[in-house]
Amino acid sequence: MNTPSKLQAVVECKCPRCRKGPIFSGKMFSFKGQVTNEYCSHCHLRFEREPGFFYVAMFISYAMNVVEMISISVAAYVLGVALTYENLWVYVAIILVGVFLFAPLNYRYSRVFLLHWLTPGLRFVPEISEKKAA
Ligand SMILES: [Zn+2]
Repeated sequence: MNTPSKLQAVVECKCPRCRKGPIFSGKMFSFKGQVTNEYCSHCHLRFEREPGFFYVAMFISYAMNVVEMISISVAAYVLGVALTYENLWVYVAIILVGVFLFAPLNYRYSRVFLLHWLTPGLRFVPEISEKKAA
């Protein structure tokens, strides 16, 4: 079985060490919600590296939110919502709807970005990836 690339592992939310086990259970957009697995099902890596580890993901999520809000505002302007004082609440409403819709994506990918790119000492180990799941 081929080893997924780094980008593929990030997009599919796979474990940063083996790129095989899923980080989350549950679908991104479901009413039951998505749950971060405690351990990787393939290599048994503990995803929450230390107590409070995922607090850092909150800051990543904040940065993603800012980018999304700016993008939504620019998109609204380009699509014809005039930038006038009367349209202030239209922009606020559009941004709030966008933030609400992007929240599950931010939750998921802020943790994936943290695990894949911002955790020192956590890297891909091909030998672990090649082993069959225990
Ligand atoms: Zn793993």
